[in-house]
Amino acid sequence: MTAPLPLHETRQLGRTRIHALQAGGQRLDGGAMFGVVPKPLWERRIPADDRNRIALGMRCLLVEHADGLVLIDTGVGAKEDAKFLDIYGIEAAVPGHRTMLDAALAAAGHTAADVRVVINTHLHFDHAGGNTRVDAAGAVVAAFPNARYLVHAGEHHYAMHPNERTAASYFPRNWEPLRATGQLTLVESGVELLPGIRMRPTPGHTPHHQSIVIDGGGETAVFLGDLCPTTAHVPLPWIMGYDVEPLRTLESKRALWADAAAAGWLLVFEHDATTAWGRLGQGAKGLEVVPA
Ligand SMILES: [Zn+2]
Repeated sequence: MTAPLPLHETRQLGRTRIHALQAGGQRLDGGAMFGVVPKPLWERRIPADDRNRIALGMRCLLVEHADGLVLIDTGVGAKEDAKFLDIYGIEAAVPGHRTMLDAALAAAGHTAADVRVVINTHLHFDHAGGNTRVDAAGAVVAAFPNARYLVHAGEHHYAMHPNERTAASYFPRNWEPLRATGQLTLVESGVELLPGIRMRPTPGHTPHHQSIVIDGGGETAVFLGDLCPTTAHVPLPWIMGYDVEPLRTLESKRALWADAAAAGWLLVFEHDATTAWGRLGQGAKGLEVVPA
């Protein structure tokens, strides 16, 4: 099956063209996705299937930056087996393309070879799996052969030292081959990675999770990553059960919402099945996403 929605959506962010690229569909347990929020509340926002799973996307953001194409997160890739794909309800195959992300890139008029910089919000398999691919000889190689990959140093360290709860999300084949080729650069948050693009630390989902802030020239967007995976997660206590430090997520989200609401930032939602972006607005019951 193909994505329920267009593979890509394009808009202007100030003077910069950006594309939301769909890297695949995913179905995860609704209870796990909403943490302590009771099912009668969350299923009004996103209905569950007969396995209690909710439909999600794996959206990436492509920025037509003056220094070259920048891709934020890379979806799940194509290295996992059928059993894995079934467990996580992943549908990321498109006939004629290596991955759905490649198909989305093509739909936006680009190829993997055109990408100059890849930035990962964190290294979970559904965000960094598309960093690498298996070549004809069976070796795991860079999926973006001409790109530098920027990963937060703390997140990389955390991923390389997993525990019993975190290990199922971190597969070194998604980034270690890039170290061998010198393509992986470990970075700190706060500094400009490229003119107008920086990581904003949004700890909680993982201790060094980063949201990516893009100043497009007169307009700013933030790629939220797993700080707020869907538009249904905008209320402060709607926090995923997957988060390792949920009370830090709460404070990361509180601080970011304050800045985003004050400055009218465009929010980009990675896992929302249908909505790529929107802005914060005041609704009857608190903050909500309004179409941008
Ligand atoms: Zn994650």
